[in-house]
Parts: sequence; C-alpha cells; structure tokens
Amino acid sequence: MTTLLSPDVEANPLEDARTQLASAIELLGYDDGIYQMLATPRREVTVTIPLRRDDGTVEVLVGHRVQHNFSRGPAKGGLRYSPDVTLDEVRALAMWMTWKCALLDVPYGGAKGGVRIDPRHYSQAELERVTRRYTSEISPLIGPERDIPAPDIGTDERTMAWMMDTYSVQTGHTVLGVATGKPIALGGSLGRATATSRGVVHIALAALADRGIVPAGATAAVQGFGKVGRYAARFLAEAGLRVIAVSDQYGGVADEAGLDVPALEAHVDATGSVVGFAGGDAIDGNDLLELPVDLLVPAAVEGVIHRGNAHRIQARIIVEGANGPTTPEADAVLAANGCLVAPDILANAGGVIVSYFEWVQANQAYWWSADEVELRLAERMGQAWESVSAHAARLGVPLRAAATALAVERVAQAHLLRGLYP
Ligand code: NAD
Repeated sequence: MTTLLSPDVEANPLEDARTQLASAIELLGYDDGIYQMLATPRREVTVTIPLRRDDGTVEVLVGHRVQHNFSRGPAKGGLRYSPDVTLDEVRALAMWMTWKCALLDVPYGGAKGGVRIDPRHYSQAELERVTRRYTSEISPLIGPERDIPAPDIGTDERTMAWMMDTYSVQTGHTVLGVATGKPIALGGSLGRATATSRGVVHIALAALADRGIVPAGATAAVQGFGKVGRYAARFLAEAGLRVIAVSDQYGGVADEAGLDVPALEAHVDATGSVVGFAGGDAIDGNDLLELPVDLLVPAAVEGVIHRGNAHRIQARIIVEGANGPTTPEADAVLAANGCLVAPDILANAGGVIVSYFEWVQANQAYWWSADEVELRLAERMGQAWESVSAHAARLGVPLRAAATALAVERVAQAHLLRGLYP
C-alpha cells in the first residue's frame, strides 16, 4: 500500500495495528501472553482463483480470508477488491474489526477478506466469476454462525448477492445471514448502504460539539468519494457544514464557499470521478489533507496521514471514515498539536452496527423499518462516543488509546472467561 505516501514513508498497517494493541496491553497491565494471542489471527486462508476472462484466456488471482478472533462470537468483516491487497493488510483490517465489534458491543469477532484485483479493469461477468470462485474456496470457513462477510473497497451489494447465492447453492437452501450489505430485495437492511457514513457524521457532530464548534458554516474536507465518503459529504452538507474539498483516487475538487454536494454526486454518477466537476477548482488529492478545515474525514485507504505529512495537517478534528488512515507516529504529532482524532474503530462503526441489524433480521426473518434502524444506529453511536470520550478523560489519553483499551479489555475478558482449550 504505497499510493498516497511520499517515497520515504511506507504504509505498514499490520505494524500500526500491533503498535496500537501493544499500547492498549500496557495501559491495561496485561501480560505478554495476551498480547501474543491478540497480535496473531486465529485462522487465515490464502486461495488461488482461476478466472476465465471474457476473451477465453485464464488468469490466476490471489485471495485471502483472515479470522482474527472469535472469543465474543462469529467473525465479521468486509471483503476488499484492490490491486494493493496483501495478507498483512488483511490481517491488520481483521484485527481492527475485532476491536470495532467489541467496542460497539456487537456479538462478533473480527475478520477481513481481500482479492488482489483492480475491479475497474474487469467486466461484471468476470467479477461475478471471481466472487463465486472465491466464495466457493472459502465456503468451509464462512456462514451465519462462523464468519459473515460484507462490502469494503471495490465491492458492493451486488458482490454480496453473488456471495450469498454461491454459499446458498452449495448449502442447498437460501442462507440470508451469510453476508451483510446485500440488496434490499435480497434480505438487505434498510439503512445499511448509508450506515457507515451516518455513523461518521454522528461522531463528527459529537466531536464538533466537544470542541465548541457550531456545525453551521464549519468547514470540512473529505478524502475518498466511494460508499463511505460520498454519503459522509452529503450528510455533512445536510447538517449545515461547508464541504470545501473532496477527492478520489483520480484527483480532487475544492470550493471555499462549499461544494454543491448533490451536483457533485450527479457528476460522479455520470463520469465515475470527482475530477472535472465544474462547480469547483481542481486540487491535488494529497493537498486536501493539509487544508485548514474544522473537520477532515479520510474515507479512502490506510496510512494516508503519516510521519511525512502529520506536522502539516491543520484540521482541528479528524474523523476516520477509512480504516487505519493515521499511523501511530502521526497520531503522536496530531495529539501534540491539539488535533482531536476520532478513531476508525469508533467513527466508521456504523456499517458493522447495521450489518449486525441485517444479520439479526435475516436470522429472525423479520424486517425493521428504516426509522427503527436509524434510531438504533444513532443510539449505539451516541453511547459509544460517550463511553470512549469519558474513558479518555478518565485515563488522560487520546480517543484512540481509550477506544482500543476498552475493546481489548472486552475481548481479553471473554477469552479469559472461556479459558484456553485444551
Ligand atoms: P469504495 O471502494 O466504495 O470507495 C473508495 C474511495 O476511495 C473511492 O472514491 C476511491 O476513488 C477513493 N480512493 C482510493 N484511493 C484513493 C487515494 N489514493 N486518494 C483519494 N481517494 C482514493 O470503498 P469504501 O467502502 O467507501 O471504503 C473506504 C474506506 O472506508 C476503507 O478504508 C474501508 O475499509 C472503510 N470502511 C468501509 C465501510 C463500508 O461500509 N463500506 C465500513 C467501515 C470502514
């Protein structure tokens, strides 16, 4: 994962995740045995995926599924399609899922999957074959009581429909609870598609209030305009903020007066990128991170705020829509500069909360209204913010340290109560 980094800064999400875990273990006073157990995934599988291309040639792809922990319940985590996928990246993302589920008190452990592929270069029919073969290869490991995938970078509700169908065909009956983030017509939950972004905005508004900043007219920049960034920008604008810059992997656009987000969304639907939007000036995607804004929402990939640029970040608040956008070295610089960082495992947990609601609805075959989903999401995000900020104040540590400590403690408690088998 090197996309956004200066040449001297290499992203290493697994190292970052282990550093965060080590700090939590120290804060909690646990021994090295607990660290070793939690630093290592319980189970991981690497599969090869032979793909018949539309032109008749065969290409062999590589995929992973990592299950980091099951102490509190079945594993849960997204599936990523990206040319940058590595086993270490998937391990880090699986570990963060364990903390996120524990922090939000949903009854899951953590998992993550990835296939090394750039989906933009493949047809829908090819992506369907990749998804079905990958699902078939990992099918002994997944299931509603074992491990429940969901969309992540480069995958969507269509991907989850193919996964659910492939698993169901192999099982011999329809198993709606095997994946979340499915289409509404196929057992998806109302509110799931926007849940991560709604959660990001709940946390952003709480963080603004914490810093005494009124949302109306406050400035925001959003990196990434996919499933998370797009709706985050929309909901921030609806809450009265001025979204002055957004970017995607192709470039960025900015307007000090505030971008017209619905018009920008229409431009992205028509062209596939924010680049070329007439309602703003072109900016470099990296420069977006360094704008003097009240709120910065990184919603793209890991490791974008690092030791090479942390001292140039001027945002007063960072709310992490992406997983792992800030390295531990950058965290220390941001804390010293008084920047409030709402960490990924708290800020982007809205997705897994409504995934949990989707799984509950699928298992009970009983559907909730959109209002019920959004009310329960708001309640859970609010409670999590309160408990993390109170814990941070009690311990005198940043929000990430407090959130990770709360989560690790819950996982370790579950592990110790279950005991070590044999
Ligand atoms: P996505 O594939 O829908 O969108 C990713 C966006 O990031 C795209 O707009 C892409 O162009 C952009 N991007 C990629 N590289 C970039 C770069 N170098 N600079 C600027 N933009 C870049 O993915 P997503 O589901 O929105 O996921 C984004 C992040 O949020 C990931 O870290 C993911 O793990 C995390 N996340 C997603 C969910 C979810 O429900 N989808 C939940 C929790 C966390």
